[in-house]
Amino acid sequence: MLELAANTDPDLINDLQTKGMRLVDPRAGHESRRGGAGPSDHKAVSFGDTTVMVPVHTAPAFESPYLVEAPTADGLARVTKDGADIGRVRFPGRPRFYDLTTADGIPYNKIAVLHSRDVLATTILQTCIRYESRKKTCQFCSIGQSLAAGRTVAHKTPEQLAEVAKAAVELDGVKHMVMTTGTPPGRDRGAAVLAESARAVKAVVDLPIQVQCEPPEDDVWHQRMKDAGADALGMHLEAVTQEVRERIMPGKASVPLEKYFSSFEAAVRVFGRGQVSTYILAGLGDTRDAIVEMSARLVAMGVYPFVVPFVPISGTPLESHPAPDSDFMASILEPVSKLVVDGGLKASDIKAGCGKCGACSALSIYEKLRIKA
Ligand code: SF4
Repeated sequence: MLELAANTDPDLINDLQTKGMRLVDPRAGHESRRGGAGPSDHKAVSFGDTTVMVPVHTAPAFESPYLVEAPTADGLARVTKDGADIGRVRFPGRPRFYDLTTADGIPYNKIAVLHSRDVLATTILQTCIRYESRKKTCQFCSIGQSLAAGRTVAHKTPEQLAEVAKAAVELDGVKHMVMTTGTPPGRDRGAAVLAESARAVKAVVDLPIQVQCEPPEDDVWHQRMKDAGADALGMHLEAVTQEVRERIMPGKASVPLEKYFSSFEAAVRVFGRGQVSTYILAGLGDTRDAIVEMSARLVAMGVYPFVVPFVPISGTPLESHPAPDSDFMASILEPVSKLVVDGGLKASDIKAGCGKCGACSALSIYEKLRIKA
């Protein structure tokens, strides 16, 4: 049975990322992501030299036609769809830095975790002004769940982040870091805590960093984050039409789309074309055309539109919302990959972050196919 090579089959990745997979041995590979900011409840799976995140703890995943068996001695695990063999995959191993503890007694994996196979990810503030009330919360987000379950700490200090980042580079060879944050009260929208964290990490280890926050009130924060050591910035739209924004994320929708656009423009002047990105969740109600049109507008501004399938996370208000189907994803990612390649904004040119990692979407696989063609 052949080891599957994802870089030749984006349709398979769309199908897996929308349907999820069932695991015979849930302990295989490193711990799956549960809770945290943004999309979650995934497990990293390697197809040849491509690693993607596949939902495992979600409602669709429990019904998925994809079943992954326990890995054999060679590290390969058989995958079947409706009982028929489709190939074999690997799970990235448990990182060594997970076994360490900070001087103040906190396990390193409560400070930051491995995403995909070479990305260190942390949610600096595990609380959010948008999460305080049911009325305002982003309906897809589970930022409070991992905190409530004791899997993380509420505020990771710069010193803790620096200590963990250094170990993750030295012990596990991580290549870049994603720092996201819940939105704190205040006009900087989290930029201040991101800047102080990036500065602390860069002081001890040479690791490219993407910071992620809502658009700061004052554009001066883009330069401050860059000067502190951030290499790339994500400001995430999630939904692209106002009606969907208000329904799915009523608190965040109070920030007008125009504010995002002016902040993107200012950020591209600081970080450069392609080093500013946004996350767009397909499947929340935005039409295909709305997402593709928004992507075209973003690419023209120099912003990388990282379009990912919405995954309904257990315990959130949207846990029973259907995931998009793979044809819908293909109908968006195919044209968006053309937009980004024609616009000179390839995932592989991003210095750090979700767009560079690409594991939550098949977008970068479409890009590679387009570049090869
Ligand atoms: S794309 Fe972003 S959220 Fe997804 S695995 Fe990579 S770093 Fe994590």
